[in-house]
Amino acid sequence: MIAVLRQARRVLARIELRNPERLWVHYCVAISALVGLMVGSHLLDRAEAKSGHQASEAIEMSTLQLLHAQTVVEMASEFVVGNAADSRQLTKAIVHFQDLQHSIANSGDLPATVQQRLFGGDAPLYHELRRFAALAGQVAQATGPQQTEALTHLQDQFVSGGLQQELTLLSSLISNQLAIDSQRILGRRLALFFVSAAVLLAEVLLIFLPAHRLARSTFRKVRRQATILRKSDAKLDEMNAKLAHMVGHDPLTDLPNRKSLTEFITNALADKSIHESALLMVGLDDFKTVNDTLGADYGDALLVAVGRALQSCIDEEDFVAYMGNDEFVLISAEPAKVIIGRVMASLDQPFMIKGRRVPTKASIGYLTVGPQTCGPLQPVADAAVALQSAKAAGGKTAHMFTTDLQTEQYCFQSLQIELIDALKNGEIEPWFQPQVRLSDGRLHGAEVLARWRHPTRGLLSPFHFLPAAERAGLMIDLDHAVWSAALRYARAWQDEGIWKPCISLNVAPDTIADPHFLEQFLLILQRSGLEADQVIVELLETTFIGGDDDMVAINIDGLAESGVAVELDDFGTGFASLSRLAQLPLSGLKLDRSLVSPLPDHGADSIVRAVLALAAELGLLVIAEGVEEATQAKHLNDRGCAVAQGYGFGRPMPADEFQNWLQANVGKALIINQDLAKSA
Ligand code: C2E
Ligand code: CA
Ligand code: CA
Repeated sequence: MIAVLRQARRVLARIELRNPERLWVHYCVAISALVGLMVGSHLLDRAEAKSGHQASEAIEMSTLQLLHAQTVVEMASEFVVGNAADSRQLTKAIVHFQDLQHSIANSGDLPATVQQRLFGGDAPLYHELRRFAALAGQVAQATGPQQTEALTHLQDQFVSGGLQQELTLLSSLISNQLAIDSQRILGRRLALFFVSAAVLLAEVLLIFLPAHRLARSTFRKVRRQATILRKSDAKLDEMNAKLAHMVGHDPLTDLPNRKSLTEFITNALADKSIHESALLMVGLDDFKTVNDTLGADYGDALLVAVGRALQSCIDEEDFVAYMGNDEFVLISAEPAKVIIGRVMASLDQPFMIKGRRVPTKASIGYLTVGPQTCGPLQPVADAAVALQSAKAAGGKTAHMFTTDLQTEQYCFQSLQIELIDALKNGEIEPWFQPQVRLSDGRLHGAEVLARWRHPTRGLLSPFHFLPAAERAGLMIDLDHAVWSAALRYARAWQDEGIWKPCISLNVAPDTIADPHFLEQFLLILQRSGLEADQVIVELLETTFIGGDDDMVAINIDGLAESGVAVELDDFGTGFASLSRLAQLPLSGLKLDRSLVSPLPDHGADSIVRAVLALAAELGLLVIAEGVEEATQAKHLNDRGCAVAQGYGFGRPMPADEFQNWLQANVGKALIINQDLAKSA
């Protein structure tokens, strides 16, 4: 039995609800079955009650009819015996009997079977009753012996004729009928019950149980999913927060970025929480050098360290953002001078990066922001202008923004735009400055120096336009233009027999780092028709020269292999590594004017002597720059310096003027003309 139940349970468990969306149909069926059961039960109750009521009515009537018949018989006997004065009582009893019979015949309360049995056209009782009434009527109307005879017939009719028996039988007939009706109703009731129960059971087993299981598993699934959703909601919140942080922060320094800075200023201006606050833009002066010499890893670490140092300079309600490159912005409620002092002091000490001391310098552009400030962009742009000015002034200084600076910046930018046209129109021209051999005063060579013959501003020196060209990325084009023009002139002087030229060309760091440098340089040289040993390339000491695979080193090697001499310019101002110096295929050093001018000062002299000794050791030619006085020339000559260049021997000159100078001076022993130097 238990096994059967288990099996049934398994079977039921396998039943699946095919169309859960049509479950409502089954609910309707189940409700209909219940309602049907209730209505059916009610109707059957009523039918049962009605049939019971009819039966009792019928029994009552048949009993009454029997009593009336008895009364008729008694009245007839009384009348015949003579106890009754007249037949009126008998007639009345007959009328009662017939009325009753009549009302029974017309009564709708009687069960149909009984009605049929009593009053149907061929119902024996019907005929019996009619005969009985007729006989009673004869008794009432007859006289004499006929009366007695009629009475005898009447009594016979009542007793042995079967009326009494019929009426008595009728009661049991009705009782039987009642029992049959009850039985039938019970049957219907059972049938109704079973049908409803079957429908409900089928619905429960085949529909509602699977539906319940489905609902339960769906509920569990939903609950599981809700839990997952809650968890993923939390993750989503976390991710959103991270995303929001990422959007507003720089990934390297984890400092607020430009976007956050803009929002900070906008909000502060909107809620008026910014009152004459200092806005500082801090830029690292030597960041590029750190990146180039030590590598991007050190550069990145330095930015992170500087970011932390700047954060430690400000209060909690102040703001520091990283703007990209080497620039940071600080907004502080403290006076600008105070915060600048603190920032400079915190950046003054070298940073320890990966176990190395990395010194850094910073420039600052600053201004005051307050309720009068319009929008977040202008003060940042103004601070950038002031920062550029501080950097241009040599760095490690702070400049406050002024409208003059802005005008300067504007000029700077327009200069950059004009430079593009200037290069196309040949407005940049080469000037030549003689270089003299100190031993015999003969012309050694000439350095080419660029000048811009500006259509409206007049003649501009490199100091005025090179920074703009550098920042506009125009140095390569500028160098190419100057070399081409210079070498064309030089070739002409050679062809005209004026001078066998030796031309020094300046090469900017950007130009020598260009992968196409060598082919461009050699092409220009080839087009000029001069020999490789007639040109010298001057490289700034500050040009970064990396390992052997560095583009600059490759280009220097290429020049040397092509027979072009390379000299290190401005020697003594940069940080050229002496060991690296020995490895490079250099031909000479140009002693910077800052070392030459103080001569014969003792301190300067000892440096010059050390440089000359080093150069001799490495087999390098030394050219002293900025020689203006005869004492300087003599001093340098005495110390073994081979070549001098300076206003004392000749200023930079335009090509036609230099040609005249050449015609007047080539082959002569040149001496210092101090007046020439003083006219500077
Ligand atoms: P530099 O290569 O060191 O050139 C020497 C600078 O010193 C020149 O300034 C020259 O006029 C100046 N100078 C020469 N002798 C004396 C002197 O006795 N006293 C004084 N006070 N100054 C003297 P300049 O022509 O203004 O050039 C400045 C710098 O611009 C140059 O310095 C060079 O680095 C750069 N430069 C000039 N032309 C070019 C060019 O065509 N290409 C590149 N890449 N750089 C250039
Ligand atoms: Ca030079
Ligand atoms: Ca120089």
